[in-house]
Amino acid sequence: MSVPYFLDPVTPSRGPRWLNRWLPSKRLRTDPLQGLSVEGRYAPVSIANWKLIPGMARTLLSARVFRQLSFTADRRLTIVVPYRDREQHLAQLVPALTATLRQQGVRRRIVVVEQEAGQPFNRGRLLNIGMQLTADTTDYYCLHDVDAVPILANYACPSQPLRLVTNLVTAHGEPKQRTCHYFSGAVSVRKDQAFAANGFSNDYWGWGKEDDDFFFRLLLAGYLCYFDAEGTFRDLPNPEQQGAPLRSYLKQNRNRRSLLLRGLADPAEDGLSTVKYQVLEHVEHADYEKIRVRWQ
Ligand code: UDP
Ligand code: MN
Repeated sequence: MSVPYFLDPVTPSRGPRWLNRWLPSKRLRTDPLQGLSVEGRYAPVSIANWKLIPGMARTLLSARVFRQLSFTADRRLTIVVPYRDREQHLAQLVPALTATLRQQGVRRRIVVVEQEAGQPFNRGRLLNIGMQLTADTTDYYCLHDVDAVPILANYACPSQPLRLVTNLVTAHGEPKQRTCHYFSGAVSVRKDQAFAANGFSNDYWGWGKEDDDFFFRLLLAGYLCYFDAEGTFRDLPNPEQQGAPLRSYLKQNRNRRSLLLRGLADPAEDGLSTVKYQVLEHVEHADYEKIRVRWQ
């Protein structure tokens, strides 16, 4: 499938593209859309504080204009859950999600994409594969962590990408809040928008930073990402042995994200359109499907 990538992310301020590697980046001090709110509930995910080279800052600031957030009923939703070895979480997520979606009258598929055992985790690939496999029956996706259990959430189809998670209820009971920069947890995005941004990069290992990369892909494709300030979820504790991804990945992922932010990575070359995989097993349960995959 060809991907319309209609904004050139590489607009160096001067000289050839390789210069991007060396140009100094500066923090965006403020977000031009700061303070904006839709229905007193939804606000743009902030771009203040991101360090960008001048060409990238210009591209982003011209692409990221106000776009109204509205919701459309009666569209087909696919919830895609990236998954490895979190049975307890899944057992809590599925009933809560099913009840919430039923109550909201949303036509849905819940698809858990599980990677073959023995490979390093790759959240971006699992989400790309899930979106590819279900594209024919989907109008919009919700890319949904297995440990985010909805308490108050709006699963309707948004006109712009929307992060549903803001307020967290933790296992210890004390409340936590996601920052206005975060773009992960549970994110609803229309199919055409996900494909226009070419989904996630396939080259982030473990998990972490692939979500920032996705956020920038959407911005560069001309969308305005929002969050729901009222969205409230239970945050299940991570299994101890999984904890956080390996340290070596963190550095690698940071470098990868920096390539995108410097205009040195072209999303059209790596993402939904290029992910290579094989389906090993597809099991239909009463309320959800589980698809086990292997990638090449
Ligand atoms: N995940 C998983 N198995 C793993 C690591 C991650 O299934 O070994 C998936 C799962 O959907 C999880 C998401 O990736 O919710 C994000 O990971 P995690 O919850 O550890 O992130 P954090 O809590 O640190 O934001
Ligand atoms: Mn977690």
